[in-house]
Amino acid sequence: MTDLADKYPRDEPVLRCKNVLKSYSAKASLFMKTPRLTAVDGVSLNIRKNLCVALVGESGSGKSTLARMLSGLEQPTRGEIYLFNQPIQNFPPLNRAQLVQPVFQDPAGSLNPAHSIRRILEGPLVIHGMQGRTQRQDRLDRLMELTQLPKEVLDRKPHSLSGGQQQRIVIARALMLNPQILILDEPTSALDVSIQAQILGLLKNLQETLKLTYLFISHDLAVVNAVADEMAVMYRGQIVEYGPSEQVLHSPRHSYTKELKNTSLSI
Ligand code: ADP
Ligand code: MG
Repeated sequence: MTDLADKYPRDEPVLRCKNVLKSYSAKASLFMKTPRLTAVDGVSLNIRKNLCVALVGESGSGKSTLARMLSGLEQPTRGEIYLFNQPIQNFPPLNRAQLVQPVFQDPAGSLNPAHSIRRILEGPLVIHGMQGRTQRQDRLDRLMELTQLPKEVLDRKPHSLSGGQQQRIVIARALMLNPQILILDEPTSALDVSIQAQILGLLKNLQETLKLTYLFISHDLAVVNAVADEMAVMYRGQIVEYGPSEQVLHSPRHSYTKELKNTSLSI
């Protein structure tokens, strides 16, 4: 899998979707037969290698639904998703996991409370058949170093860690298999503002050190301002504006982007 990624041309999209639509059956009512709710409505997006693309939009605009489809965790109702130019459904889940990994908002909810951090981080290695003890320990050491966590936390349980440390563990676990792409769905939204800044800084460093490609999802323009090369603005299931971050932030064209900018006080 890393072979595929190494040889991949620099400016090509590593992840791309074309006319993706996802609808869910809404609650049945007496008067309508099987009403459908369209969460993502014909989205096309190219995520080029080594860039950070931000996906911004208010709550309910379809960001997480798109994130789940781009991570391969959910199938679109219509449309196609390509990972390294191949239909994402062609990858066996284990191979896909070596290329693209999701990181979700709520760290506590993503970590099994009964397991030690060591066991949580070793999970992906065990599933992928990395059985050698030394090999596994080396990988753990490397990830603790990359996410700036002391080794002592390996023998602790998630509840004994702070929110920021828990999110570092979630990020470390996502990186265990050395993926190329992270889909970060509001990775700092559940954290205090000062901790948010630390995690943002960490993500920025990791992107540089490991040459990662990010899709960074947030409802807050101020959060993505510092990290995103490009921005896609999502509104009611559609991408209404897309371009270099500077352009989207400083000369927004769509009225919704202007509104979003006005509500993000810190820019
Ligand atoms: P965002 O992440 O931007 O807040 P979501 O993708 O979570 O938006 O949700 C978009 C819309 O799709 C919402 O109306 C939400 O209620 C609906 N939705 C999301 N997931 C499901 C699901 N599994 N079943 C039914 N409706 C869903
Ligand atoms: Mg969401």
